[in-house]
Amino acid sequence: MTPAAYVHLDLDAVRHNLAQVKRYAPNNKIMAVIKANAYGHGITRVARALDQADGFAVARVDEGVKLRKAGIGQAITVLQGFVCTDELLLMLEHGLDAVIHTPQQIDILQQRGADVAALSVWLKMDTGMNRLGFKGVDFNAAHERLSACAIVKQPINLITHFANADDLLDDKTLHQIDLFNETIQGYPGQRSIANSAGILGWPNVSIATRESAGDWVRPGLMLYGCSPFAGKTGADFGLRPVMSLHSRLIAVKNVAAGETVGYSGTWQCQTDTRLGVISIGYGDGYHRHTQSGAPVLVNGQRVPLIGRVSMDMITVDLNSQPNAQPGDPVTLWGDGLPVEEIARHADTIPYTLLCGITQRVRIVEARH
Ligand SMILES: *Cc1c(COP(=O)(O)O)cnc(C)c1O
Repeated sequence: MTPAAYVHLDLDAVRHNLAQVKRYAPNNKIMAVIKANAYGHGITRVARALDQADGFAVARVDEGVKLRKAGIGQAITVLQGFVCTDELLLMLEHGLDAVIHTPQQIDILQQRGADVAALSVWLKMDTGMNRLGFKGVDFNAAHERLSACAIVKQPINLITHFANADDLLDDKTLHQIDLFNETIQGYPGQRSIANSAGILGWPNVSIATRESAGDWVRPGLMLYGCSPFAGKTGADFGLRPVMSLHSRLIAVKNVAAGETVGYSGTWQCQTDTRLGVISIGYGDGYHRHTQSGAPVLVNGQRVPLIGRVSMDMITVDLNSQPNAQPGDPVTLWGDGLPVEEIARHADTIPYTLLCGITQRVRIVEARH
């Protein structure tokens, strides 16, 4: 019998997707981004599967510590760095590399004379995202201050982040690249610019010509098989989905024309409807805002979602499948149904759906 609400993880796919990153960025080192529990796929599991990655990036210190405790040996960069001395000490203890993005972090580093050349850093430039990082002359001043910190390993590495790289018509990305390269001219150290959208969408400008061999790309979403570009799927770039979300039908019944289905009666049956009830809901991470009409695979065939998503269940129109029975297998996204497509029907992006799988969903791993 098909189990209720489970995620199937294809770890060969994540390795395949890493190989695709190498094809798009053959001269670069790869910092695989596995923050947020590897976009919902399991941070330790994904780090182990990506043993060919040159390094990893996480958002927060505790994510890096978890990886070290699991025996992961590659460089691990903490994208938010530390916010206090205690966190810095934790990073030193576990050999984590810090992104330095704000003057208070440099104050903390200056106060520590003891550990000489103990911390590898990436100095972050704000090239227009207006989130983390130093702008303009503040960046140069921060570089000077960091260069004088005994605790900091030299040379200082240099990093920035794209704001709009998923929009191929927006030349902001080119401005960001130019600003970064102009500002860091003459500085030694490794450089890192491109996320998935930069790698896939701006390969000629961001990597081949601008980032020199040996510098780092930072793919996240594409490792999990998804496209960062609206209207495209991972398959368009030779990527394979890693996560598939599955469940099963638990009831099948007839509802007369004119009746409504589910909370608030948002769906009214236009014809007599063979209704299927599936054991999946927002309590599992199936987005509540997924609209009626979103495709669901029942026995491998597409049927439309109808009515509101509830916590533990959704309802579908089974008129095209008169023989469907409780227990029949259901796919919500993944194999044969791109999560990018479901994200569109839920007015969100694939990132949030992947990250949103909840604790109660069983994980089934597979390697072929
Ligand atoms: C999350 C993140 C990435 C990866 O972005 P994707 O769009 O998932 O490829 C890269 N760099 C930074 C700084 C990030 O925060």
